[in-house]
Amino acid sequence: MKIAVVGVGYVGLVAAACLADRGNHVVCVDNDKKKIKDLNHGKIPIYEPGLAEIVKHNEAAGRLCFTTDLKDGVDNSLIIIIGVGTPGAEDGSADISAVLNVAESVAELMDGYRIIMTKSTVPVGTCKKVSEIMVSKTSHPFDYVSNPEFLKEGSAVDDFMKLDRVIIGTTNPAVMELMKQLYSPFMRKKSRMIFMDPASAELTKYAANCMLATRISLMNELSALCEKVGADIELVRAGIGSDSRIGNSFLFPGVGFGGSCFPKDVRALIHIGNTESCPMTIVEAVESANIRQQDRFAEKILDYYGDKSVETTLAVWGLAFKARTDDIRQAPAIYCIEKFLTAGMKIRAYDPEAMEATKEKLGNRIETFKDSYDMLDGADGLVIFTDWQEFRNPDFDQIAGRLKKAVIFDGRNLYDSNIVRKQGIEDHRSGRA
Ligand code: NAD
Repeated sequence: MKIAVVGVGYVGLVAAACLADRGNHVVCVDNDKKKIKDLNHGKIPIYEPGLAEIVKHNEAAGRLCFTTDLKDGVDNSLIIIIGVGTPGAEDGSADISAVLNVAESVAELMDGYRIIMTKSTVPVGTCKKVSEIMVSKTSHPFDYVSNPEFLKEGSAVDDFMKLDRVIIGTTNPAVMELMKQLYSPFMRKKSRMIFMDPASAELTKYAANCMLATRISLMNELSALCEKVGADIELVRAGIGSDSRIGNSFLFPGVGFGGSCFPKDVRALIHIGNTESCPMTIVEAVESANIRQQDRFAEKILDYYGDKSVETTLAVWGLAFKARTDDIRQAPAIYCIEKFLTAGMKIRAYDPEAMEATKEKLGNRIETFKDSYDMLDGADGLVIFTDWQEFRNPDFDQIAGRLKKAVIFDGRNLYDSNIVRKQGIEDHRSGRA
């Protein structure tokens, strides 16, 4: 099939590369000239495991190309996938202006029937808005499909290649058939396509993210309670996760959820509810619990150093909002580091993939390191924000020996306190006294 993907970020680039890998011809369009120039010179703008390999392979095979020229994409494609950003506006609503701009331009450029498909996360009703704009700009026929994306940064290529489910929002049987053809190579054993109307598809995406965010916030609140009542959240987690009605996923307490999706989608659903005079009270509580959790972690550390905060140097492991990504958007690490800096602390930081993005964001306000142990020399404590594999089984002798004060604030509950304490290291983690 001939496809254009507009917006070549975490979602667009992964979708484009995976679709090309199944034999489709994919034109990637982005209005970021530098990004397209880099891609055309073989530089992948984001870190996502396995992505560089499939991009290079499919580009070499002539199935994947990159341009800033939308006309190129529209001329050469039947399906136009929109994967541009839909950032949160000040009032929490999703800013869909980029989606609408692309739809309008596509309508102006198309010379015959096209299918417009949104992978961007968009509020209910976007289908109607896109269709109205397109009708006003073209007399050619088109179909609109809502196809929310569920890939997870850090395992995005794997998620796309082995699709768990695909939500297709369309009521046109001919388009349904085409979608089956598009996605069946990713689900050879069993079809997991769910068809519905576009509005339901649009809401499904927000509902899924808010459900997952709710689980995390509930666990984070329970971890705070555990600290008060002398229970251990890790044991509670194991206990409830063993209930098959609950399961083990998304039950890990930590420093709060972050990233480009959960915080923004939680706020957007609250906004949608308020607009419809149907308050999303549970989701509102999820948002406040998440902010409280980040504050609680930062305050625990600030309280620990008290008056000495201005003379304190903290070593920080992990900046990305989760492991296996370089994405620091809404990362709890950045939120807490800002608080530490305001209190006068000096910050040394290390992350396997997110250093470049962090330097861009925080500049020389923090010191960055290429080695996770060198930064410990003379520091007053180690704070862990991200659950990277390389932090899971560290050299505790080096940590104890190189830190001026041997203390770890384990924001991800990576370590067994008994082991850490045996090494002479004081440890603080979520949900255990
Ligand atoms: P991103 O910021 O990484 O990428 C968006 C891209 O769109 C950028 O490269 C930007 O330059 C480009 N762009 C913006 N306006 C454009 C325009 N008018 N024409 C051409 N290109 C344009 O964003 P992302 O993380 O890939 O997210 C994209 C959408 O997918 C969002 O709606 C997001 O909520 C949703 N989503 C993201 C994830 C995720 O894990 N990141 C998962 C599921 C859904």
